[in-house]
Amino acid sequence: MAPISKECDFLVIGGGSGGLACARRASGQWGAKTIAVESNRLGGTCVNVGCVPKKVTWNAAAIAETLHEAAAYGFNIKETSPFDFTTFKHKRDDYIKRLNGIYERNLEKDHVEYLHGRAHLLSKNEVEVVLDSGSKETIRAKKILLATGGHPNIPNTPGAELGITSDGFFDLETLPKRVALVGAGYIAVEMAGMFHHLGSETHLFIRHETFLRTFDPMIQETIIKEYERQGIHIHRNSSQSRIVKKDDGWMTMHYTDKASPDGSTLDIDCLLWAIGRNPEVEDLGLDKAGVHQNAKGQIIADDYQNTNVDNIYSLGDVCGKIELTPVAIAAGRQLANRLFGGPQHRTAKLDYTNIPSVVFAHPEVGSIGLTEQEARDKFGDGNIKVYKTDFTAMYYAMMPAEAKPPTAYKLVCAGEEEKVVGLHILGSGSAEMLQGFGVAVKMGARKRDFDSCVAIHPTSAEELVTMK
Ligand code: FAD
Ligand code: NDP
Repeated sequence: MAPISKECDFLVIGGGSGGLACARRASGQWGAKTIAVESNRLGGTCVNVGCVPKKVTWNAAAIAETLHEAAAYGFNIKETSPFDFTTFKHKRDDYIKRLNGIYERNLEKDHVEYLHGRAHLLSKNEVEVVLDSGSKETIRAKKILLATGGHPNIPNTPGAELGITSDGFFDLETLPKRVALVGAGYIAVEMAGMFHHLGSETHLFIRHETFLRTFDPMIQETIIKEYERQGIHIHRNSSQSRIVKKDDGWMTMHYTDKASPDGSTLDIDCLLWAIGRNPEVEDLGLDKAGVHQNAKGQIIADDYQNTNVDNIYSLGDVCGKIELTPVAIAAGRQLANRLFGGPQHRTAKLDYTNIPSVVFAHPEVGSIGLTEQEARDKFGDGNIKVYKTDFTAMYYAMMPAEAKPPTAYKLVCAGEEEKVVGLHILGSGSAEMLQGFGVAVKMGARKRDFDSCVAIHPTSAEELVTMK
């Protein structure tokens, strides 16, 4: 074995949302000698191929929607040339590059030593890093964090390699003319909405009757109807048997679905798999240190981010608990506080309950707490009261009836006190609205607390404090 070339208090493998937050807190705030290792671009999935470029693209799609809607308000906007996706893509890339630089400078500011290379465990205290130059560092660390995130799945359907994943979405130089997306979660729904509003003919292939099946049924039913109204082609109960390359650069997808149970084909110039993600652990050397994984290969960590090995910790997507950036960041900061922040932080941990999340669909979907069914299962039917409303936001008042997107809200309340245990919202502005309502739910607000807050008029959000 190579001699030890570096020693530290804390070695963080993975420079994504969770790893960076944890490393910076450990070093910058608590003074632990910390090394962070990243093999790709700093910032991880969120910054490079996730939340950030996704939200910028969502903004572009939202602008396209607004331009379309402007006519109803009397604006006469003539597009002199079509949307320049290529220019947009390069500007978005430049923005991400600037962020990569900011992340590197932040590490410097917090005195975290940054190694660009691929790390794997040699034992419970030793890690080998293969640097870009090909040379190696062997590091002995008192404590090690595994925050290596995940990567998209590709099915074993013949020809599946002709498709891309969400990573490839951000490499597209031009907008596809006709795109097929396979999947039914956040990514499929968000990317289908973006493609459609930017101008691609969009086909979404789902295995069941609806998508976003972990969300409250009100959300599922409303958003799927809205996507169909907008003109997105939804292929229900579908499966793909093979994808075949054509001579003209396009491909043919062979599939069955509800409308064509005996099989049909679709010619497309882009296929995007969005069927979930796997943990990035293949070359991490978990067996060398004896770190346990679950059946999906995810690292098993308890509520304090402890693995089964006493000085090895793990958090974020590689553990697969709730795969969101703020969750990884919050878990990382709490862990650094607990490990290095002195006695007053000995029990610091992230509370994984009531975490709000948003799907940047068109329109947005937001959710915190339990679905109606989860609440009924937990508290019993007799202890649940549900308040629902659906309406047309005033913004759409000037539009013809057939062009008005829906808004739908639901409060799920439990017990005599009517504590709000679930809040589900769909409609324009939901992403920004949810954060504030999330605070209320996290604080244990009851229906009467919502009612006691005077409405802000005219908004959509006021409906949440005036429900009967
Ligand atoms: P990551 O951010 O994935 O970081 C892990 C890092 O570890 C990577 O940079 C990887 O290169 C590195 N690494 C892996 N193995 C090694 C190794 N052996 N040696 C060195 N480095 C290694 N979340 C939200 O909250 N809001 C959103 O809007 C949102 N949108 C998303 C959109 C998409 C398309 C995707 C894919 C995800 C989105 N997410 C969103 C989820 C969010 O990006 C992740 O939950 C978050 O990035 C997880 O952080 P992490 O630190 O666990 O992992
Ligand atoms: P998800 O796990 O959310 O969804 C994938 C879905 O695809 C499955 O739930 C399943 O739904 C369906 N699916 C699975 N296998 C197949 C298959 N072979 N064929 C067709 N459909 C299949 O994964 P995503 O990749 O969408 O996103 C990963 C995670 O990233 C999310 O869970 C989320 O935590 C995070 N994320 C967050 C975002 C945000 O905060 N806005 C945005 C994007 C990602 P079914 O069982 O219904 O078929």
